[in-house]
Amino acid sequence: MSNRIETLEFQAEARQLLQLMVHSIYSNKDVFLRELISNASDALDKLRLESLVDKDLAADTSDLHVEIEVDREARTLTVRDNGIGMSRDDVVGLIGTIAKSGTAELLTKLRESKDSAGSADLIGQFGVGFYATFMVADRVTLVTRRAGEAEGTRWESTGEGTYVVETIDDAPQGTAVTVHLKPEDSDDNLHDYTADWKIREIVKRYSDFIAWPIRMTVERPGEDDAVTREVQTVNSMKALWARPRSEVDEAEYKEFYKHVSHDWADPLETIHMRGEGTFEYEALLFLPSHAPVDLFAPQARRGVQLYVKRVFIMDDCDALMPNYLRFVKGVVDAHDLSLNISREILQQDRQIQAVRRRLVKKILATVKELKANEAEKYRTFWSEFGPALKEGLLDDPDNAEAILDIVSVASTHDPAELTGLRDYVERMKDGQGDIYYMTGESRAMIENSPHMEAFRAKGYEVLILTDPVDEVWVERVGQFDGKPLRSIAKGQVDLDTEEEKEEAESAREQQRQEYADLLTWMSEKLSGSVKEVRLSTRLTTSPACVVGDAQDITPTLEKMYRAMGHEVPQVKRILELNPGHPLVEGLRKAHEQEAGADSLGDTAELLYGMALLAEGGELADPSRFTRILADRLARTL
Ligand code: ADP
Ligand code: MG
Repeated sequence: MSNRIETLEFQAEARQLLQLMVHSIYSNKDVFLRELISNASDALDKLRLESLVDKDLAADTSDLHVEIEVDREARTLTVRDNGIGMSRDDVVGLIGTIAKSGTAELLTKLRESKDSAGSADLIGQFGVGFYATFMVADRVTLVTRRAGEAEGTRWESTGEGTYVVETIDDAPQGTAVTVHLKPEDSDDNLHDYTADWKIREIVKRYSDFIAWPIRMTVERPGEDDAVTREVQTVNSMKALWARPRSEVDEAEYKEFYKHVSHDWADPLETIHMRGEGTFEYEALLFLPSHAPVDLFAPQARRGVQLYVKRVFIMDDCDALMPNYLRFVKGVVDAHDLSLNISREILQQDRQIQAVRRRLVKKILATVKELKANEAEKYRTFWSEFGPALKEGLLDDPDNAEAILDIVSVASTHDPAELTGLRDYVERMKDGQGDIYYMTGESRAMIENSPHMEAFRAKGYEVLILTDPVDEVWVERVGQFDGKPLRSIAKGQVDLDTEEEKEEAESAREQQRQEYADLLTWMSEKLSGSVKEVRLSTRLTTSPACVVGDAQDITPTLEKMYRAMGHEVPQVKRILELNPGHPLVEGLRKAHEQEAGADSLGDTAELLYGMALLAEGGELADPSRFTRILADRLARTL
């Protein structure tokens, strides 16, 4: 089967992305070279690691480097590395398809965003890697041989749907990517990728810190028209994280971020730290400026790479970063670890655990700092990563306090601004002991829910929690600053002061007596749906609402658990009636006069259904509800 030539189709998603590249919508085309160098550097990292772990690997690792070669006549640019290389199957799997999670979502978004600026932005957020070459090339050739294997592979494509792969015998170990540049645009000498100065500029700007030499052969006019060729190393190769902060400038940090994160946008914040003492390490971490498309995908990966004394060990080092900080990108270089340490051992390693604790504290402190001093950045951070960070309130109880300090939530206090919990506490009314909140699917639904009425009437601020994770953390955390977190949709609510209560007591007593029969009858009538019917003190305008017992789980949480496949017993809630509402009062009078009438039962059902609808809930039997309602309306005409 050797030498077999095959023409294969790109996977559907890959084809669509390539289309975008070929008709290049991204203005900064220079980055194609950064992507190729980044892949070459990764390949060298992988080979070095593999040769350290597998002593029998037949591979030459004596002079690992990247080489850039230009052929001005042929208008080609080649980036060559002597790294790990790819097998034929690797080439088909890695270059012919996009394995990145979130590709489907990205493509949907791209289809939706009509304007090309918007698409360019999305492309930038996704990072298209190798495919970026098709912004500048009308043909790309890749020749590669996997370290330790005898046969090589040649791959070629014009980016238009198909590619050709062929097995060859004379490929050197590693990978060479040759970019056949599109015909020159005569006006555009700024993008002449065959010019030495241009290549040098791009390498300096994007890839200076790459730890391997990037070499380029330059031609110099010599004597008698002879041309001398000279090999130069274009990058400085300094490991950025090992340099003192004062010696690194912003632009270098930014480019390094793009290299480790595969993000095309600038980072929001840079954290450069060093640990000394018994366990030495350097860490260079970044908070991105936008969430990746797969932040909430189950297989979302963590973004921190582990190095040991400048040697790359692994991507996605989960031992160093808790899951709720999975969006943090960067590098940790630990000095005293063995090079062939496994993931499992890392998880148990006490020193790694200590480093992780320090990193987490530092990240949380950095966000707190942003919150205090850089409101705009903090806002971006929170809107992108807040929902993920709040998972820490469940997963990392040791840092719950630090996390609560940086949490922001929506509130009835100000429709436009989020608030911190401490700010809420400072605004609490005299005598208010609890922090009130309500959870639900949307702000509008919560604000219009009947539960809010008494709080609005009395001027109490209520926190509006709409992220799925909110349901869980408020329960788990329970309090802030010694003040209980209390759902306004649960338990009994009485916002009256002692005085008001005393004043109202005789009137309430009278209501209790008047309504006793109706409540007993309704509790019986609706016993399939609710566990109790009682009078409410939280309603001012609505006739009724449904509330939970203080320890019950909420309907949203119930739905969430079911969606996750858990068995959840049906939780019955409590129906509260507003005795000041004409409908409720009318029902009471009708019940006094004619307790057995069918129409009373219907009204009771309608009341319960309305209460569910008002909080955005679902009716168990919508068609029955509409039938009763239509019937009732018909009689009013
Ligand atoms: P990414 O680098 O984000 O994974 P790319 O599109 O840049 O995505 O590359 C896709 C994959 O192709 C890489 O993950 C790598 O496995 C493989 N690859 C690309 N270039 C090289 C190379 N020079 N040497 C070895 N493998 C490579
Ligand atoms: Mg890449």
